Amino acid sequence: MHVITDPHQLRTLCWEWRCRGDKAALVPTMGFFHQGHLSLMRWARQNSDRVVVSLFVNPAQFGPGEDLDSYPVDWERDRDLAEQAGVDLLFLPEASALYAPAHATWVEVPELSAPLCGRTRPHHFRGVCTIVAKLLLLTLPEVAVFGQKDWQQLAIIRRMVVDLGFPVRIEGRPIVREQDGLAMSSRNAYLDEELRARAPLLYAGLCRARQWADRERDPKALLLSLRQWYEREIPEARIDYLELVDPDTLARVETLDRSALLAAALHLGRARLIDNLLLGHTQ
Ligand code: AMP
Repeated sequence: MHVITDPHQLRTLCWEWRCRGDKAALVPTMGFFHQGHLSLMRWARQNSDRVVVSLFVNPAQFGPGEDLDSYPVDWERDRDLAEQAGVDLLFLPEASALYAPAHATWVEVPELSAPLCGRTRPHHFRGVCTIVAKLLLLTLPEVAVFGQKDWQQLAIIRRMVVDLGFPVRIEGRPIVREQDGLAMSSRNAYLDEELRARAPLLYAGLCRARQWADRERDPKALLLSLRQWYEREIPEARIDYLELVDPDTLARVETLDRSALLAAALHLGRARLIDNLLLGHTQ
């Protein structure tokens, strides 16, 4: 496995592969790998000639007071796990190699970035779009792979590549969960034992709401029941949002006659946990 920190070297190697006719898959990550990340890498391994994984805790997607400085890091372990997953190239840049002091260009998809996580993280997705655009230009992959855990991110990236004409296919992969249902996340490391035991209730609530949706077709009533369920079952959590939105446009749905995304974010201790479930589909 190549481990590269220099963007120019990354570009050169990816270009050589491309000239040989090899098709590459890019998996952008912030590291501290878990089975969710590894599922993306394995999919990439099975579906491409070359697998490129970027590991970069992108400062541009963190707001003031967020966890940029405490984001969990274990490069040695990540390196071993990537190698075991059959990754060809691990890209580990310094922030200064990707953002020059004079950096002044941002890629934004404002409408899709405003709801859900965008309400409390107003600059998050422009940071995500900008870094993903840079990584796509450096690696020119045939496919880039993202997790449905970050559904809003996936919807925004799909829009960005269509609108800017990036010659890449976007693959969205299912959420990988712990046995108790908690969606895997690097940020689960912030949970102490007690809160870790409570965290699966986030997904349990979404599953209950899916059952209620068989009878309750009014999104507002359904979301109110879910809010009350969380307040009762997990009073130590602070609800950031609970929403039912169109899976593509992320606009709030007024009725439940088509498929809808049920999306939630909760603060639990130091961790902000997000999760989602498609209603009207089997997931
Ligand atoms: P992150 O390192 O958290 O930025 O995530 C890197 C990629 O892994 C993103 O495309 C995430 O959506 C995806 N990912 C994170 N957690 C999971 C999970 N539990 N299941 C599937 N994909 C995930």
